[in-house]
Amino acid sequence: SRKFFVGGNWKMNGDKRSLGDLISTLNTASLHDETEVVCGAPTIYLDFARSHLDARIGVAAQNCYKVAKGAFTGEISPAMIKDCGVEWVILGHSERRHVFGENDELIGQKVAHALESDLGVIACIGEKLEEREAGTTEEVLYGQTKDIADNVNDWSKVVLAYEPVWAIGTGKTASPEQAQEVHEKLREWMRTNVSEAVADSVRIIYGGSVTGANCHELGSQKDVDGFLVGGASLKPEFVDIINARA
Ligand code: 13P
Repeated sequence: SRKFFVGGNWKMNGDKRSLGDLISTLNTASLHDETEVVCGAPTIYLDFARSHLDARIGVAAQNCYKVAKGAFTGEISPAMIKDCGVEWVILGHSERRHVFGENDELIGQKVAHALESDLGVIACIGEKLEEREAGTTEEVLYGQTKDIADNVNDWSKVVLAYEPVWAIGTGKTASPEQAQEVHEKLREWMRTNVSEAVADSVRIIYGGSVTGANCHELGSQKDVDGFLVGGASLKPEFVDIINARA
């Protein structure tokens, strides 16, 4: 069975004081030990987060570049992330795709290099509202997933995050039925295009306006293996979300 996975994506929020308070809350909280927990910190606080968070909580970078080093002003590499003791990176987040213009090809290259560098990858996909309304949700998600999958050899290091763009930061959560329907289709896609074993073992997590109030019903869906949480991951409520399956 798949280990429940709850990621927090702090995005570009917090400072040492507020993140330090959050870290203290997480370090002293009772966290269900059958759940894997990872916090995505801003680049400049990765070292701070890794050195203050308890070892039972993982840390993720929110992005990285596709090569190990060089003349790429402002970028960071998986090697640097690893050097800070950080285990994960979030790639392909909708804000990277739509605010910063990252395309499927670049995201695929980043996934390949992060995995070669032995980082775990939280790979994000998601359709926009107009795509859902136009009936192209599956086509969009399968296309994004293929460009990720083409760059993965070891799926044990990958968590797939389904984050419908219309649900991110909007308070409009996908219904448990909507989330389950997509997760089930993604798992079927994996069965057809990757392998039976990967389809059964890969964790597919949901993101988009997850809260302490809606996490239980979402988390009880058969193919929902956890969450990627934005706003609520900055609040003590994150502990309730971590323990949604406890
Ligand atoms: P919210 O939980 O704030 O909607 O953000 C979701 C998200 O983008 C997580 O990566």
